[in-house]
Amino acid sequence: MTTRYQSVSENILDAIGDTPLVEVDGIFAKLEFLNPSGSIKARIAKYMIERAEEDGLLKPGDTIVEATSGNTGNALAMVAAVKGYRMLVVMPEGLSSERVAISRAYGAEVMFVGDFHVNAALEKARELGRQPGHFCPSQFDSEWNVEENRVILGPEILAQLPEGVVPDALVAGVGTGGTLLGVGQAFREANPDVRLFAMEPAESRTILCGEVALHRIEGISDGFVPGIFQRHGAMVDEVTSVSSEDAVEAMHQLARRHGLFCGPSSGAHLVAARRVRERHPDLRTVVTLFCDEGEKYLQDYFMGKAKAPPEPSPFV
Ligand code: PMP
Repeated sequence: MTTRYQSVSENILDAIGDTPLVEVDGIFAKLEFLNPSGSIKARIAKYMIERAEEDGLLKPGDTIVEATSGNTGNALAMVAAVKGYRMLVVMPEGLSSERVAISRAYGAEVMFVGDFHVNAALEKARELGRQPGHFCPSQFDSEWNVEENRVILGPEILAQLPEGVVPDALVAGVGTGGTLLGVGQAFREANPDVRLFAMEPAESRTILCGEVALHRIEGISDGFVPGIFQRHGAMVDEVTSVSSEDAVEAMHQLARRHGLFCGPSSGAHLVAARRVRERHPDLRTVVTLFCDEGEKYLQDYFMGKAKAPPEPSPFV
């Protein structure tokens, strides 16, 4: 019998990555919500911190400070706990309360700056990061973010696809843009014709038309076009948008029909990927990602006043 782990792991950070790739509605979906700390962000958190250590930017006893809409905060808090750093998460109010609680559970301090969008938190984290003994990974601007996706996540997906199959399209929402542009770079090396589709909320089409508005697809469209996207965005072929309502409905479908309990951004990724397949039947191998776990949204969508909308049972 072979197991995923052939030997004793040093710590939880060894369990990051190597997530399954499953076919959902004819689309290849990378189950990134299965990473430790519950999201795709575990990958860049570990990578950015280890690169900073190698470059001497982060030393024992230092404080990591980062602006985040939540998942990167959870992931960095986990990495900081394992490695013994102090962690300060700077985030806006109005996001899922679970993500605040999860950062605190890992021992991080949470500072609230601004409302819903990350702009104000970003300013604050940059300012604090300049203090002695502090390091700000700056996920929205960091080339290490793009690099992790190009050298680790992208090749991992390519290796999982059936033999001889290369991706025709990648569909990914833009938070920092690291996933879309880094994985996109890896895919372009395997298939120069691969089409890259950026996805953003229909209510807040920041890339397409500079809009910044409230939406429910937490983790993407944080209120500005990130530095990473400004530098690498020219490689994107199309920008698509998905409404928060469609994203949440698809989130419920993922759990009920496929047993995949993920957050609204995963629903949005599925909706966008389905549309790409419908509109471009020539694109046969469409890849997307399910980025964070549904447990992070229990209060908003699954408990208390906000019960999941009723759906006819498939068994009657
Ligand atoms: N979905 C969720 C739930 C996220 O937390 C993020 C990251 N903020 C993304 C999608 C987008 O990833 P990226 O930052 O690489 O664009």
